[in-house]
Amino acid sequence: MSLLHDGYFSLGLEADPELARSIDGELRRQQEGVELIASENIVSRLVLEAQGSILTNKTVEGAPFARYYGGAQFADEIESLAIERAKRLFGCRFANVQPHSGSNANAGVFFGLLKLGDVLLSMDVAAGGHISHGHKATLTGRDYEIVNYGVRRDTERIDLDEVRDLALARRPKMIVAGGSAYPRIIDFAGFRAIADEVGALLLVDMAHFAGLVAAGLYPDPFPHAHVVTTTTYKSLRGARGGLVLWNDPALSSAISAGIFPGVQGSVMLHAVAGKAACLGEALRPEFKAYNQSVLDGARALAEALSDGGLRIVTGGTDMGLLLVDLSAKLITGDVAAKALERAGLAVNKNLIPFDPRPPEAPSGLRLSSNAGAARGFSDSEFRQIGAWILRVIAEPSNDREIDAIREGVRALCARHPIYRA
Ligand SMILES: *Cc1c(COP(=O)(O)O)cnc(C)c1O
Repeated sequence: MSLLHDGYFSLGLEADPELARSIDGELRRQQEGVELIASENIVSRLVLEAQGSILTNKTVEGAPFARYYGGAQFADEIESLAIERAKRLFGCRFANVQPHSGSNANAGVFFGLLKLGDVLLSMDVAAGGHISHGHKATLTGRDYEIVNYGVRRDTERIDLDEVRDLALARRPKMIVAGGSAYPRIIDFAGFRAIADEVGALLLVDMAHFAGLVAAGLYPDPFPHAHVVTTTTYKSLRGARGGLVLWNDPALSSAISAGIFPGVQGSVMLHAVAGKAACLGEALRPEFKAYNQSVLDGARALAEALSDGGLRIVTGGTDMGLLLVDLSAKLITGDVAAKALERAGLAVNKNLIPFDPRPPEAPSGLRLSSNAGAARGFSDSEFRQIGAWILRVIAEPSNDREIDAIREGVRALCARHPIYRA
């Protein structure tokens, strides 16, 4: 794609070698390293092309066919396509595909459906919740009164009795289920019964398991949730951004106005096209097979690590994500993550439930099979990755060992390339 007129503005990345070098470097990093960060994935060429398209030139505001700007014919088509696919994929009546991020999807829903000072009951970040559910460092934490539930100390799982006790005592207007580091099935029906008992709305944030829900490999938040939010770039393996889904027409105008103009301005049409693309992919049978390998891969990795003596929080996982407790190994998550990065294994440090350590140097690591499965890793590759992780954690400052693992990682990645030129 090049512009018609000559001169500087018809050039591509070759016009900016400084930027091009960094993008090349990032491509090489992705090609040659194993991505185990749960908030990432590897998208198709289709998604890349849609999101990198000329749609970046178009500004629209408002809903399809009710815009504040002209020239929106194709913008309307594209956004409607994304909405239709989202509704079909998740079997619901309404979808808003405009949120620029998962945090914006949540903030928009809160802004639309709650009043300043309302009580919001959500999962504690320290137990696996997400900061966009009212953490005090965020705008949502300032605007609403936040009450948090956690997990049981013995099972490390959500305790619905605790959720119910808090709901009865504090009378939330909304209850949020779903988090960023909770690897287990959530009892949506149980949450809904509590929400009904206190007259609250139930929001399910399915960012980390939306792909599995779409593939029928994780319980469906509908019909239990009043509103469902998700990101589209993690388990859905697509464009950057978020979605809001719901069934009750009585909620529609508040949710739409909560997103725009509540917390956002104009639509990122290129990202909406990327969402249409990934939602189309998720409707295909290949997406189910992909998600089966996400699930199998995460379980193979968890098993390899636990056979090697690492404790897996909750004993395993029901999704692509798992949490590892390093406390018995006398190494903290930050030190382990740095050593693993030198070996070509990208992970993130994470708090574990009841972590005695601070978030900067926590006791855990969060791992995911999303991106590995996307490049074709199966159980045996994930077991190999588990073996490498165990070796790095055993000797995080043994440079020769780490270099040897780095070579093994490079060779594995060369057998599973991404983005062939
Ligand atoms: C990642 C995540 C978000 C936030 O997404 P951003 O796009 O980073 O704003 C929200 N909720 C959950 C559960 C997440 O995992």
